[in-house]
Amino acid sequence: MSRIVYVNGDYVPEEEAKISIFDRGFLMADGVYEVTPVMDGKLLDYPGHVARLHRSLDELQIANPVGDDELLKIHRELVRRNDLDEGLVYLQVTRGAADRDFVWPQDATPSLVLFTQEKMLEDSEGPKHGIKVISQPDLRWHRRDIKTVQLLYPSFAKMQAKAAGADDAWLVEDGFVTEGTSNNAYIVTKDGTIITRNLSTDILHGITRASVLKLAAEAQLKVIERPFTIAEAQNAAEAFATAASLFVCAVIEIDGVTLGDGKPGPVARRLREIYIAEARAAAM
Ligand code: PLP
Repeated sequence: MSRIVYVNGDYVPEEEAKISIFDRGFLMADGVYEVTPVMDGKLLDYPGHVARLHRSLDELQIANPVGDDELLKIHRELVRRNDLDEGLVYLQVTRGAADRDFVWPQDATPSLVLFTQEKMLEDSEGPKHGIKVISQPDLRWHRRDIKTVQLLYPSFAKMQAKAAGADDAWLVEDGFVTEGTSNNAYIVTKDGTIITRNLSTDILHGITRASVLKLAAEAQLKVIERPFTIAEAQNAAEAFATAASLFVCAVIEIDGVTLGDGKPGPVARRLREIYIAEARAAAM
């Protein structure tokens, strides 16, 4: 079934959607994106995603294509028109079309594209059984706090993981894990402390991460934000990842080493339950 997508002011069937070949998103990866999860036809963690979109646009001096009220309306309209109960809304803003040049135009009209993806989130396979990860060098640029559409290296690293029989790669820089290819990374020590890398330009400031850390604190779980190594992760009681498309997902194997009994651990399971309940209650 054809989806209805949004392109620069119009709702059109996906086969009719068009963007210029001179769009700088296409030619230079000059654009940013957001992915908002949908459950029960409602948007989860939406204010966080919009706030991060503003930050990404500001950092790259890309003009904001629409106001916040209009953006929320577009999200809701796409969910409605596609009858989306569970899945994702993908949003992309690029600097717009201009003759190809490394110097970006000051006056380009930004392009705005949104589409929906149906996806099982609550009962998806990864979180049910836990995922396996391998380590890969983090060869991305150093402004990973900006959610740009330059996803070739994360995609490449994930393909390396798939080729090795794993589900994802945890990226390592200077001996420490930064994050997953499209998720934030955590371990749980044997005394129950949750460890995840501190925020900086080294990692994306995950919206799910922010919500999960707040909920962990409310549940009296101890959290330390600092880098950790693959060896420390392999010796941990548990590991997990967070992302809009995963919520909280246990990691059960790291570079061939099984964690615990090879099943999702109690901290990851509990945080997943709490996150889903809270995000659902606050959905809009
Ligand atoms: N880190 C990276 C590199 C990502 O691409 C993502 C999500 O796409 C995340 C972390 C998780 O962020 P969020 O929880 O906002 O989805």
